[in-house]
Amino acid sequence: MDKSWMNYSRVSNVYRSGVESFLNLAFATSSQENMILCPCKKCVNINWHVREVVHEHLIVFGFVRGYQWEDACDFWNSNKGESRERIGVASREKQKFTHTAGSKSFARIANEHEITSGSSVGRIQLFDIRHTRKDGSPITSEAAEIMEKLREKRAEYEATASTHNSSVNANDIDNQVIAEVFGPERYGRVRGQGSFVTPTAYFGSSSSQYMPSQSRSINVEVDRIKQQLQQEMDAKIAEIQAQNAARDAEREAAMAAREAEKEATFAAREAALQQKYENMESQLAKLLKMMQKDQSQDSPSDP
Ligand SMILES: [Zn+2]
Repeated sequence: MDKSWMNYSRVSNVYRSGVESFLNLAFATSSQENMILCPCKKCVNINWHVREVVHEHLIVFGFVRGYQWEDACDFWNSNKGESRERIGVASREKQKFTHTAGSKSFARIANEHEITSGSSVGRIQLFDIRHTRKDGSPITSEAAEIMEKLREKRAEYEATASTHNSSVNANDIDNQVIAEVFGPERYGRVRGQGSFVTPTAYFGSSSSQYMPSQSRSINVEVDRIKQQLQQEMDAKIAEIQAQNAARDAEREAAMAAREAEKEATFAAREAALQQKYENMESQLAKLLKMMQKDQSQDSPSDP
């Protein structure tokens, strides 16, 4: 394949259309979860990015020096690339449904959602989040069907719960609905929570499968992140307090210095006034003495 376009200016049409054809080939042959190893100068085949980002990087930063397309193919055919590929395929095969989570843990997604929405995330909502694109559309028709079913069932349960005026935990409804839509929990995973959560860890070893339960694994992760945030905030606050204390001390020292200076000025002024007064007094005394002398000389004692 012709690669002479790579030597053209990055603002040229030749370069731009070359990048397009490179992206077409790379994403057709080597993408994983809509990402390829970005061959730009900054990412040097280490960072995975989606097409738009790679495109931008190749226009802004250009290809890493000496980049050959074969490099990418070599990498993807190497053990590292292959094993990554294998892991990707294997984990995708294990999952019946694709989802938008990528490499993020579901607990993390739930936590992020909790932070932005301010409310806790139920299992059904988590399923929705994971199977919905950013534009709000479901990622597959299968996912759309399941979401629809989950929603219907949930509405049914909620209606039943409200007519019986029973206070049913929202998590319990979620668990019941998911059990009905997906079937009983099996294969060491809890539906909607990702494959790393076993039913025991999720529901707790002492509780039976659909007993009231908080999303334990999520709560653990949320608690951990909350704790971490708290620690970071505490450290930040301590830092700010230390800065404030230092500034206050500085300000106080400056004020004290100014005060001392003012006092010294006053004292000097007072001393100067005192001196002036004393001088005037002594001059007055001299004048008085001179006047007395003149009087005694000018006025004859007898005419
Ligand atoms: Zn890049």
